[in-house]
Amino acid sequence: MAIKSINPATGKVYKTYPSLTSEEIEQRLVEGEAQYQHYRWTSFSDRSNWLQAAADYLEDHDSGLGRIMTQEMGKPLGAAIAEVKKCAWVCRHYADHGADYLADERSDVGYVRYQPLGIILAVMPWNYPLWQVFRLAAPALMAGNVVLLKHASNVPKCALSIEQVFRKAGFPDGAFQTLLIGADQTAAVIADDRVRGVSLTGSGPAGSQVAAVAGQHLKKVVLELGGSDPFIVMPSADLDAAVETAVTARLQNNGQSCIAAKRFILVDNIADEFEARLVEKYESLVVGDPMQPETDIGPLATPSILRDIHKQVHDCLIAGAKALVGGHVEKLKASLPPELELGNFYPPTILSHIPPGTPADQEEFFGPVALIFRVKDLDEAIALANSTPFGLGASGWTQDATEQQRLINEIEAGAVFINSMVKSDPRLPFGGIKQSGIGRELGRHGILEFVNAKTVCVS
Ligand code: NDP
Repeated sequence: MAIKSINPATGKVYKTYPSLTSEEIEQRLVEGEAQYQHYRWTSFSDRSNWLQAAADYLEDHDSGLGRIMTQEMGKPLGAAIAEVKKCAWVCRHYADHGADYLADERSDVGYVRYQPLGIILAVMPWNYPLWQVFRLAAPALMAGNVVLLKHASNVPKCALSIEQVFRKAGFPDGAFQTLLIGADQTAAVIADDRVRGVSLTGSGPAGSQVAAVAGQHLKKVVLELGGSDPFIVMPSADLDAAVETAVTARLQNNGQSCIAAKRFILVDNIADEFEARLVEKYESLVVGDPMQPETDIGPLATPSILRDIHKQVHDCLIAGAKALVGGHVEKLKASLPPELELGNFYPPTILSHIPPGTPADQEEFFGPVALIFRVKDLDEAIALANSTPFGLGASGWTQDATEQQRLINEIEAGAVFINSMVKSDPRLPFGGIKQSGIGRELGRHGILEFVNAKTVCVS
């Protein structure tokens, strides 16, 4: 895949970047390793100051950085600016708490000292092009590691901007470097002895391929992969709040979020009302230019994401599912202004009456498509929620304390949110089980992934 910056709303190519040659990659590795030998001995206080400066820079440049994201991957500008602010938050979180998270851990027989590992390679996706990188880089840098970024090939401007943020914040040269390389150049970087760990956020196949190379070379790996999160609504739920949240939970980032609510599992006696209210909300959404403040839903990031979601919906409809709203690309295209004709737009869609055996059972729907399932009780809801290969997050809506405990205990996922949507937060660990990933990011768990927990006994 060429490394290209393309506006997904218009199809306009801004710039094509040559990928680095193997000599250029070698230079970056030499620089990263040389810097690591110095950077690893810098104090927590210096690293904390650099992270605070990165947060200041992000906050001072939130609109400019937000525009770059919107231009490259199509999220509404307001959401892009909010993402920049969240990146500042994660920098400040580790600046404030990193030293405590990594303090020596004493016991009666000795202590544990946490030390950095070396160069960490971040293989990152385009959907939250800044956030996904900062949530790995902030703790990795606070711990004394250095970072190389291989970003998704459709967000090179974002990738270069992130490098600039760290440089402007005062981090020493080489502490954070962007490698403009394709997926096919990545295995050689992982295999390099100077690289000590890999963190990937993206699809299952990419995770599995990267983990296979990391495993072959015995490198530590963290994977944040896809999800098909359930959103379970029980009879006692506050329906106003549940419907309102459902719209955001499904449609954030034009529907391209690993922790988006994707399957709405409704207990029979509230299903009709929930469904009708969700349809009403979907029908009022504005699809269009993501730079305009009135736009709720922008284009999907790439033509292949558009093709994939279109095929998944088509397969469900052929099998007998009903589109309560959306489902037809051509109708939406006809309603858009001519300058958006070549954009990757997909209409907000709700599918119900989905029979078994469709992609809705086992696949992630990475776009603005809500899948509705009706069940008779909590047992059925939990069984259906757990029936996919994924285990990232789950949102459960009930006022009943016993039902809440059952959801918390029985849902197979890395996170359960009761009466709210699944969100990442720098203060809490984030990650999945089953095919949704390995390891955790954020919180104390996140910073402990790429450190050597050195056991020390002094007699
Ligand atoms: P990918 O998972 O293919 O890409 C994510 C990152 O991994 C990119 O930097 C990509 O590089 C890199 N990559 C992919 N394959 C390899 C490989 N074999 N070796 C090294 N690096 C690799 O995502 P796509 O953009 O293709 O999206 C496909 C689907 O993945 C989506 O529809 C969605 O279901 C899921 N996805 C999930 C995300 C999440 O947050 N969990 C994020 C993005 C996608 P390059 O761009 O150069 O190919």
